[in-house]
Order: sequence, then structure tokens, then C-alpha cells
Amino acid sequence: MQAHASDEQVRAVCEKIERAGFKAHPIPGAQRTAIGITGNQGLVEIGLEELPGVQEVIRVSKPYKLVSRDVKQDNTVVQFANGGSVGGKELMIIAGPCSVESREQTFASAERVARAGARFFRGGAYKPRTSPYAFQGLGEEGLRILAEVRSRWNLMIVTEAIDYESLDLVEEYADVIQIGARNMQNFSLLKRAGKAKKPVLLKRGMSATLEEFLMAAEYVMSEGNYNVILCERGVRTFADHTRNTLDLSIVPAVQRLSHLPILVDPSHGTGKRDKVSPLSRAAVAVGCDGLMVEMHCDPDRALSDGMQSLYPDQFDELMGAVRQIAPIVGRTVAPVTSAQPAAAR
Ligand code: PEP
Ligand code: MN
Repeated sequence: MQAHASDEQVRAVCEKIERAGFKAHPIPGAQRTAIGITGNQGLVEIGLEELPGVQEVIRVSKPYKLVSRDVKQDNTVVQFANGGSVGGKELMIIAGPCSVESREQTFASAERVARAGARFFRGGAYKPRTSPYAFQGLGEEGLRILAEVRSRWNLMIVTEAIDYESLDLVEEYADVIQIGARNMQNFSLLKRAGKAKKPVLLKRGMSATLEEFLMAAEYVMSEGNYNVILCERGVRTFADHTRNTLDLSIVPAVQRLSHLPILVDPSHGTGKRDKVSPLSRAAVAVGCDGLMVEMHCDPDRALSDGMQSLYPDQFDELMGAVRQIAPIVGRTVAPVTSAQPAAAR
């Protein structure tokens, strides 16, 4: 649509698309609104060019449409209630333990995350574990603990939904719904996430190509949820000095093809604590939109992923380094002063 197109003009174009039996996806951008059309098998010839407010009709030949920069040139920016955002200038820093294990462990970790100046807290209440005998998470009790963290520390909550049932609950409690690597091609779950009212953080499958990754995001967007945040978390290779091989080259590759933000998770991406800070620095330098880092108040006693979780002091150091690198690549980091417990605010 043209930059000055009115809401009525956008609505009229959408109605015409829907009347022709297709689905219209109005996606607002900084400059103008783009309207994606899906459900068509070939060229759409319903005379949209003549409608008032229409700038141009572009045929997207790639298999992913709504995800593509052809449909929307401006970066997608997602804003959060605590002032945080992703996709703009400020880096989205998400930190916290792999799992929510107890109220004490979660609160102790959250305090350090907040005091270091991150605006987002992670922690799994539902854990996709390789072994059925490993800790599976606290379920809804874990989500309640996370909700308490949000009100106490003004941190936005990122937590994983592993199936349909948990997605309903995660949508209710969390600020960002995480879809894990193992579920990147769980298409029914992706469609359900596409109907959710909260942003979705989609992790790359451990053997997914760039196109498969973008097609997974397309599943979510095709259902009407346009707030998708991508996350690189390492892929399987022959390397045995790390748990996974962190593929930082996917960051500029995604940014060329898509308007969606892309984060990097160097914790699962390397699986080794000593490699998390160096790879986080590299990820910021390469131009990612943020980091997701595992940090535990007592990693040696963690019930999952302790080996790759930073000690709180290491996380402080990492934040210091990120604050130094960010301006070189035109990014900012939330000020430390934003971290105050609710009572002090
Ligand atoms: C996680 O973030 O804790 C997690 C399980 O990640 P992934 O899906 O990338 O393995
Ligand atoms: Mn983990």
C-alpha cells in the first residue's frame, strides 16, 4: 500500500482479496502496510492495482511469502510491555536457567538477570528431554513461578510450549511462546502458535536448512501471528568439541531474505560454558537482534543443562562485553538502571 493509505483503503483491499476466496494478511510496517495474499495457486488477477491506496502488486516467487522481504521490506519490530523490543536498535537479551526447578532457584536466577540489565527471563516449565527419566519440568506450577518473576522484576517471560496442551497454558502465562528445535517442524503445533495472541520464538531445528527454518515461520504467520522471532541454536555436525555447531552465518542469510528478527542461543549452540561468552560476543558482532543465554544461580546443581549455564558473575561480565560491542554495530542495550524490584519502582 502507499505510505499514506488509510485504514479504510487497507480494509477494502483485504475484503476484495477475501471475496475472491484468498486469505489477506495486512502487515503494518514503519513506512507502509503490506498486504500478503495466501491461498492462491498461481497468479492472482482480481484487479487490485485499481483500488485506491494500492502502490503495487508484487508476485512473490519464493516458497515462503509472509516471511519474505519481498512482502515487507522494513524489519519487523516487536514491542513489549516493559519497554523491551526486538528487531529495532535495542538488543533483546533473554537469560535464565534451562528449567524452572523451584521458586528459590528461579527467583535467585531472575534477580541476577534483572540486575545485569536484561529485560527478558527464560526458564522451561515444560522440558523436551532426550530421556523420559530426566526432569520434565514443573508444568503449570513452573508457569506460576515465572508469572511471579514478571511482576517482581518487570522481566518479560519466555518459555517453551512442547505440545498443544502446554501451548494453551504457556499462552496464558508467558509473554513469548518458545517453540523448540525438536518441534520446528511440528506443523500442527506451529499452526496453533499462529493462532496465539503472543509473539512466538521459533528455534531452528538441529538439522534444518535455512529454507526449512523460514517455512516453519511461514506456518506461524500464515495463521495470522506476524510476531515471529527466529533463533539460531546450533546444528548437528561431526564436531565433537561442542554439543552443536553454532551457525552464525545464518544471521546475515536470514536478514537478507526475511524481515523477521533473528536471535542467537550460544548455550545450546555450543553446550559448553566456556564457549558461551565468546560466541555471544561473536553473535552480537555478526549483527544478530539479540541473545538467549542460559544462566543459573547454581549451575553445578542444575537439573538440566548445568554444563552450559553461565555462573551469574560470568553473565555480568558478558553483559559488560555486549555493552561495549553493541554500539560498534549500531545497537543498544537496556540500561542497568531499568532493573529494580517492583517494590522499589
Ligand atoms: C531450551 O531452550 O531450553 C531448549 C530446549 O532449546 P532447543 O529447543 O534449542 O534444544
Ligand atoms: Mn536447555
